[in-house]
Amino acid sequence: MFHRLCLLSVVLLAACAPEPAPPSAAAGPPRRWAFADGVVFEADFPGARLSACEALPNGGYGLVIRPENLPVNNSPWFFFRVSAGTSQTLQVRLRCQGGSLRYVPKISTDGVHWVTLPAEAHERTADAGEALLQLEVGAEPLWVAAQEPVSTAELLAWARTLERLPFVERTEFGASVRGTPLCRLDLGNPACGRHVVILGRQHPPETTGSLALMRFVEELAGDTPLARDFRAAFHVMILPLLNPDGVDAGHWRHNLGGVDLNRDWRDFAQPETRAVRDEILALRERGRLFLHLDFHSTFKDVFYVQPAEAVTSPPGFTHRWLDALQARVPDYEVRRSASPVPTPTTSMFWAHAQSGIPSVTYELGDHTERSRLRQVAAAAAQEMMMLLLELQDAP
Ligand SMILES: [Zn+2]
Repeated sequence: MFHRLCLLSVVLLAACAPEPAPPSAAAGPPRRWAFADGVVFEADFPGARLSACEALPNGGYGLVIRPENLPVNNSPWFFFRVSAGTSQTLQVRLRCQGGSLRYVPKISTDGVHWVTLPAEAHERTADAGEALLQLEVGAEPLWVAAQEPVSTAELLAWARTLERLPFVERTEFGASVRGTPLCRLDLGNPACGRHVVILGRQHPPETTGSLALMRFVEELAGDTPLARDFRAAFHVMILPLLNPDGVDAGHWRHNLGGVDLNRDWRDFAQPETRAVRDEILALRERGRLFLHLDFHSTFKDVFYVQPAEAVTSPPGFTHRWLDALQARVPDYEVRRSASPVPTPTTSMFWAHAQSGIPSVTYELGDHTERSRLRQVAAAAAQEMMMLLLELQDAP
């Protein structure tokens, strides 16, 4: 339903958590609220999140979204569908409990094409946890989401499409809390002994991270001389969907175990993080790891990198790469940030501590223009390929 395969085909042708409480039932009842005039709100599909719904005395509707468990990072995801017996404009008060609203609502009638609800129909109130929406509804359902969703179905369809390329293999590894096998793509030359690791979607609402990951990987799979040279000399292991249960359950942050997976890379208490760790360590047995790249979303585009004094092999890779990217997109600010006190429970910290390799968290902004996001992700992939080819025999 949410496939963005047309985009893919075009592209391919061209180229911190304390002890958490257990999560509430992901799809606990009710998931459907029916009112007078045939007004129906629904949240009974994968990825949905709408926790409560009531008719208000003024004729409008009050919606509440709650996180899966507390404490939780402030990424209040919502995703629901609304329809009505007659065409009308609904006044909706959206409230978030356990956080403040972060995303500007997006709407769609087909789940494929999404537009941002403009200021004429979306007003933040003095309460940071509340917004007022005007939704034009009718018999055809209107989908409303915090961000345009990138569902598990879409990511898996994308992976199955890439698998049809002669230099891509798709397999499954490990299992989530719910028992869902995790998706792995291998691209390039698996026997070359030079490996790159790409991870995505530890955090369910971070769909801009998925959009950038897909565009980045499509560039590696592109029909260009650079990509062909790169695929002959390197192998890339892509694990694009590390928290499928959380995505399907419409979680704000956690897996079904109620844990932030990107704060579990020291304890490895969750099956998802254990499985990823084991795939990476097995890969290390088969040659040299060159780069660890983990895609996320936050308030702005930023690359989290090792502190300047950190030793990596190959040396100096990250800053050379990002300098080259900056030169490629001079009208865009390639921000980089190195925390003096890194969080020791993230995949980025673990990869560098474990293997001494350059390790980067590639964060995409929530509101970054999507065409810009794709342009920069493609340029970043090209510059990475060029620099790795140059450094492939570096000591
Ligand atoms: Zn994240």
